[in-house]
Amino acid sequence: MTYQYWDTHLETMSREDLTACQVALLRKTVSAALRTPFYRKPLAAAGIRGEESVTSLSDLKRLPFTTKHDLRSGFPYGFLSIPQERVVRLHASSGTTGTPTTIYFSKDDITRWTGFVARSIYGTGCTRFDVFQNMITYGLFTGGLGFHSGGEEVGMTVIPSGAGNTTRQFRLMQDFGTTVVHATPSFLLHLESKMREEGVDRSRLRLKRAFAGAEPYSEDTRARIEELLGIDVYNSYGLSEMNGPGVAFECQRKDGLHLWEDGFIPEIIHPDTLEPVPDGEIGELVLTCLCREATPILRYRTRDLTGFYAEPCGCGRTHRRIQRIKGRTDDMLIINGVNLFPSQIEEVIMSIKEVGNNYLIVVEKDGALDRLTVKTEVNQAIFRDDTRPLNALKERIRKTLQASITINPKVELHESGSLPVSEGKATRVLDSRAASRL
Ligand code: AMP
Ligand code: ZN
Repeated sequence: MTYQYWDTHLETMSREDLTACQVALLRKTVSAALRTPFYRKPLAAAGIRGEESVTSLSDLKRLPFTTKHDLRSGFPYGFLSIPQERVVRLHASSGTTGTPTTIYFSKDDITRWTGFVARSIYGTGCTRFDVFQNMITYGLFTGGLGFHSGGEEVGMTVIPSGAGNTTRQFRLMQDFGTTVVHATPSFLLHLESKMREEGVDRSRLRLKRAFAGAEPYSEDTRARIEELLGIDVYNSYGLSEMNGPGVAFECQRKDGLHLWEDGFIPEIIHPDTLEPVPDGEIGELVLTCLCREATPILRYRTRDLTGFYAEPCGCGRTHRRIQRIKGRTDDMLIINGVNLFPSQIEEVIMSIKEVGNNYLIVVEKDGALDRLTVKTEVNQAIFRDDTRPLNALKERIRKTLQASITINPKVELHESGSLPVSEGKATRVLDSRAASRL
């Protein structure tokens, strides 16, 4: 197989050149950081006075970590390093606690960001002959405009359809011959259910590829979407603190995500000791943004759990690969003392073929103990007068889950289309325990 590179020089640089490039960009980023109200003090305390204080990558560990909490406490301008008249755009993510984190961009920042997204898209085999339907939320969320600009940069015909409204999405796909889509994995699964419900003829669509990201999903979910829709699904990883999409992306080998090291310095650390973990082991991803002058962010603790691949990728790109995100340090559930990531449950249920495309994990207090309920959708056909097949399936799901997560869950089966669907990132966990402790 031949692989297409957007920028052969940048994507296949030797490790030595990549390191030199990172050091040069880190120096610039540090001087930008010294111009922000937030970083001035901690950098001075670490003896960093200007770009001359950074001479190699080992200086990275002298720089402070940055957390979501820091970004919130710096709202609105604590991380701004250029005058307002040079800022051409901002994006914000409100998260769950309300206070937004805001990222500002200069014109050059937008150009650089667009370049990383274009590189990612092109690396999956897309060209200007593709028609790209961007089925994700536009607005302050970065997925909309980020992919939009990257798609245009590649020269694809971009349809800014936004999220939701499956009927209109099908119409657009048919009218304009969409070949590529971008959506959350949960929306892609929802789309497929709706497709069958609305009787959309798959053979009349030209769809062949999807970018799926913004939320964690398992390898089994990818396989399911690929099989049901008959397309290739590429994993896309990004976060608003690091621009948005275009941080790490799968190439056509679909074996780990290349993290663009000429734009970001990745570290993977143990979340408690803050020391790097050995290659291949799972830890928290920490990222330093090297490609943004307006809002420099140093050693950002993403809370996302992943590991590096030790071996280089067969596609020839030299940028290191990270594994599919396993979960977040903060979405870990502790159920009767057992640690559990929602992704472990997803892995199990998506591998059971009778299980539908949507599910919900509910955790409640049951007296002093915690109770885990896994609600999944199943095909309508099974809800017949005879309840035996239904009960047998329920029991099989329960046993398979218990064997894998060591917790005995209650399993509920629901008719397909009856569990709530969200347009943006899916809500997969309802944990009422905190409220019942009040
Ligand atoms: P936001 O800043 O709103 O774009 O959210 C970024 C977060 O979404 C990341 O820190 C991850 O937790 C999650 N995320 C984005 N892309 C993926 C992906 N491909 N797989 C798993 N989680 C993802
Ligand atoms: Zn590759």
